Amino acid sequence: MVFDVLTLFPALVDGVLSESIIGRARRSGAVEIRTWNIRDYSADRNRRVDDAPYGGGRGMLMAAPPVYACWKAAYDSRPDLTTRTVYMSPKGGILRQDDAVRLGSGFGRLIIICGHYEGIDQRVIDEVVDEEISIGDYVLTGGEIPACILVDAVARTVDGVLAAPECYESESIACGMLEYPQYTRPYEFHGVRVPDILLSGDHAAVDKWRERKALELTAERRPDLLKKD
Ligand code: SAM
Repeated sequence: MVFDVLTLFPALVDGVLSESIIGRARRSGAVEIRTWNIRDYSADRNRRVDDAPYGGGRGMLMAAPPVYACWKAAYDSRPDLTTRTVYMSPKGGILRQDDAVRLGSGFGRLIIICGHYEGIDQRVIDEVVDEEISIGDYVLTGGEIPACILVDAVARTVDGVLAAPECYESESIACGMLEYPQYTRPYEFHGVRVPDILLSGDHAAVDKWRERKALELTAERRPDLLKKD
């Protein structure tokens, strides 16, 4: 799967998405992540990409022409792929695991636009964006961190990124509950021992214990998950 991230700060996105599992997935070819610098598409002598909003008000707005020109260059670079264009925005629907699975299985490419300053001229959003996605009910300075979160969440669902689909399907939220607590060596840490059942070798009993713990934790912290049909 291809991710094209349109941003004023490509190094920020590249840095985050070059490490660990996503970095490895890039190197193995399971995902391709390309960053596009919106500033490179400014027709302005000084490479300006922002201007004051019509009607007055605080701050600056990213102008439509460079954002559109950057989107068009990215779009035209791989017209063969089924593409969905996403704008990271606090006005969008809040990102859920279902969205990550939907985007990862339904499209060959995501073009992700990162806003900055006060956001982006509405006309380019209306023309090229299929979907606006928020990462939560708070406002950040730019769309780069939200874009990295979206890429990470979607990439984990793509074949070849994790060892097997069960790796994400069995985790908190995706499995419909919160995950049970987990332990590794040493057996005793700061006077606390690993629950004996996990050393019993009785796989059925371990599964039952984990299910009970997952249910208890979910009922305590996220009872809303248990009410879903
Ligand atoms: N003026 C905008 C508003 O009130 O809706 C907020 C602009 S915000 C300061 C700058 C950029 O950060 C946005 O264009 C968006 O790309 C990104 N951003 C901020 N908060 C976000 C969130 N919760 N989810 C996704 N993107 C966000």
